[in-house]
Amino acid sequence: VFDVSTPWLNRMIERKPKRYLHAVQDVTFIVQKGKCLALVGESGCGKSTVARLVTGLYEPTEGAIVFAPASDGKPMEAQMIFQDPHASLNPRWRVGDIIAEPIREFGLRDSPAAESERVADLLKIVGLSPDDSRRYPHEFSGGQRQRISIARALASEPEFLVCDEPTSALDVSVQAQILNLMRKLQDELGLTYLFISHNLAVVRHMADRIAVMYLGRIVEEADTEALFANPQHPYTKLLLQTIPDVASPNRDRALMGGEPPSPLDPPKGCAFHPRCPLAADICSRDAPKSRERQGGGVVACHMAPL
Ligand code: SF4
Ligand code: MG
Repeated sequence: VFDVSTPWLNRMIERKPKRYLHAVQDVTFIVQKGKCLALVGESGCGKSTVARLVTGLYEPTEGAIVFAPASDGKPMEAQMIFQDPHASLNPRWRVGDIIAEPIREFGLRDSPAAESERVADLLKIVGLSPDDSRRYPHEFSGGQRQRISIARALASEPEFLVCDEPTSALDVSVQAQILNLMRKLQDELGLTYLFISHNLAVVRHMADRIAVMYLGRIVEEADTEALFANPQHPYTKLLLQTIPDVASPNRDRALMGGEPPSPLDPPKGCAFHPRCPLAADICSRDAPKSRERQGGGVVACHMAPL
């Protein structure tokens, strides 16, 4: 729950004066160590807000985010990878300095030589060359810039990475390369991921578990295989049907019944009811509670099988 009078939120929601926006509500999930949980939903569903809450960029007004201790016993540190590496890399800095900054900030190497060595290693880990440290971000392609962002995120040796649409700005072929790199890094470094995406196809091969969000709430959550094999929330089913089709990009919105309603003024009852093909009277009256889902996980829908 946020007070909309705070400056950053005002900017974010186009200066709606003094109202309360429940950006996310009743959002409960567990990311298991060494696993990947994906949060999936359309833009505006609150998934980026969750990402920023988890990494401490936003403060929750209610509730808590609890981290297990990291393997060295210190509080677990989360790092974030953003959608647009062009915006998140300082264009005036050399790549070497961009990656070295967290190493310096956390005091992880005690000499310039050790620091350069670590930067070179990080560049190699993400598939770039140590010589790239002398170049500037604009000299790289979008995919290479995302590799630089990943190297920077890894520089502070986090165990937990929050990835907000990390491949959405990239061409499809490059997307696959970055996803493969992220999986490889997860295996090799034992990383835990919270992976945010609007695209179920993208998370299918990344995530062990998927939570589907709609207007600030989790409507269904289950293991990836179970969710694909047997989706139970009508919104999940629609998302599965609208897995982006390059041949007919406009088909998605039509199937989904247009844009989602504003999170500032969510529909009463089940927030999905204006777009839901199964909506009944009860749906516009009572909000469905989260309950156990057939086959494991949770679902929040009056019509889901018991
Ligand atoms: Fe559709 Fe009703 Fe289920 Fe909401 S509760 S998803 S409106 S069937
Ligand atoms: Mg977003």
